[in-house]
Amino acid sequence: MLEDNITELFSICYFSIDNKGNVLSVSPEAWQRFGLNVSDNILKVKHLSLINESYETLNPEHVFLSECTDKTEIGLSINNSTVDWLQLDFVRTSDAKFVLFSKAEELVAIRRLNKQLAIQDPHTGLLYREAFVTKIKELDTVGLVCCVRICNYQRISELWNIGVANLVFMEVLSRFQIEYESAIFSKYSTDCFSVYIPSTKNLNIEKLYNTLNAPFTFNGSSFYSNIALGYYKEKNNDDHELSLNKAEMATFDVLSEKLRLVEFQDTLAKQIEHQNKIETELQVTLNKNLADSFFVAFQAIHDTRSECLIGAECLMRWKVDGKLVPPDEFIPIVESSGEINKLTLFSIEQIRKLLDLLDEEEIDANFYTFAINISVTEILDVNFEKKLLEKLTEQRLNPKKIKLELTESALIDNFSYVNNVLVSLQKKGFTIAIDDFGTGFSSLSYLCKLNFDELKIDRAFVTNVIKDTKLQSIFNSIVSLAKNLDKPIVAEGVEEMEQMIYAKAKGVNYIQGYYYSKPLAITEFVEYVLEDKSSYLHFDS
Ligand code: C2E
Ligand code: CA
Ligand code: CA
Repeated sequence: MLEDNITELFSICYFSIDNKGNVLSVSPEAWQRFGLNVSDNILKVKHLSLINESYETLNPEHVFLSECTDKTEIGLSINNSTVDWLQLDFVRTSDAKFVLFSKAEELVAIRRLNKQLAIQDPHTGLLYREAFVTKIKELDTVGLVCCVRICNYQRISELWNIGVANLVFMEVLSRFQIEYESAIFSKYSTDCFSVYIPSTKNLNIEKLYNTLNAPFTFNGSSFYSNIALGYYKEKNNDDHELSLNKAEMATFDVLSEKLRLVEFQDTLAKQIEHQNKIETELQVTLNKNLADSFFVAFQAIHDTRSECLIGAECLMRWKVDGKLVPPDEFIPIVESSGEINKLTLFSIEQIRKLLDLLDEEEIDANFYTFAINISVTEILDVNFEKKLLEKLTEQRLNPKKIKLELTESALIDNFSYVNNVLVSLQKKGFTIAIDDFGTGFSSLSYLCKLNFDELKIDRAFVTNVIKDTKLQSIFNSIVSLAKNLDKPIVAEGVEEMEQMIYAKAKGVNYIQGYYYSKPLAITEFVEYVLEDKSSYLHFDS
């Protein structure tokens, strides 16, 4: 009798339980919707899970057997699929407790939806980081954390469209989900997701990696997902959030090293820490007087036939705590911070300083030219030429004394714009050299159209040229290419007499390398010029 009244009064979706959670009665709606049966125990029904607004799993005992509440709102999910937000009303009778379900009110539902959007990506259904970490913590296991990036996402999106790129993302994701059903997934960025695999038993990461990378077809077209996978195997008591950072770091390393599958190692953390230290230190020093921590090293360049010194390349040096940081480490950071032009202009000041010192020693430096390295980011700055010319005027230098070294890749990307800049610079008197030639695979048609004055063959083809016949054939074809284009050629990285003789025999015009001299600080370079017999010869003639 009482039961009838209650069900009429509230709603048609209900069940009742005793004080141990045993189900005493179930309405047909509740039976149909939640798969509940009389004599189930509500605390042990595996297919139902309860969550709160923060997507934390709730203990059913707290929800259903607690004495103090009459009303509560929960998210209920069946078989871990979509969540229904419901209001529960509890009515107690002498021997049972009725649990009545109704839809959470609209406003509550909207609030929940907003919260859900902050927790879960609506396109992929993947959890965002915070909810992901919370969920992993709840598991209380030692697992494997992965970070998967689709490296060619951007490229696919440009070639096809973003829809296809997302499709590739979803395909890779679902391959992972099929392989590891118990894993938890999270969205990291448009092209990247993180995964937590709760157990590391029977884990074959190489196999997984190959599965993710296997090509697939869609609408008759083949796609290749180019995957980078960084991972970290947790140890006992590891903080999951730190584990996630480690997997992400490994993925970052994957990208920089061009390796595609990388396990996090402690040395990597040290490297990244070092990198961060350099970055912060650089920001500080670039805004101070550059001469306090930077200096230019000059490396002699000689003419092959006369052996005369014809000038030098200016190579930037940076000292931190008394130690030199290699330019390959700090130049890319300065480039990406957009401040590389400061160093270029600083090089010009140092060239002036060198010329003044040579002048004091009564050395005629009229014959010398000085090469400076120009980065892609600089040449694309519309004010590049103006800034360069202003600095040269300030330092009383003629553009004829300056050679600008640009790498192939700097020239090929944005070809027509860069080429116009080069023409303009040549007109002002600068010499344009293509640096690291041979490493950029530029096509001959580009090379013919490009306005440059000199080719600089990369050290990689020079240093081992005597021992390696393959390098010899590359070396020879680069030299003959330069000859056909009627451009002088410089070989850098000449360390031994044999390499010098080889380069000379093949018709290389200029030589730079340890054979003559390492890069030298300014005063040492002045001494080098003074001691260099060839320069005396040069000045005597
Ligand atoms: P790069 O332009 O190819 O410079 C030549 C590199 O080869 C220099 O390395 C030089 O020290 C090294 N080298 C020259 N001869 C030999 C040799 O006989 N044997 C060996 N083993 N090495 C030799 P460094 O000074 O470490 O510079 C590395 C790179 O950093 C340069 O490569 C250049 O791309 C960049 N860089 C240096 N200074 C500047 C700068 O002021 N601005 C820009 N944008 N880049 C710079
Ligand atoms: Ca160079
Ligand atoms: Ca080089």
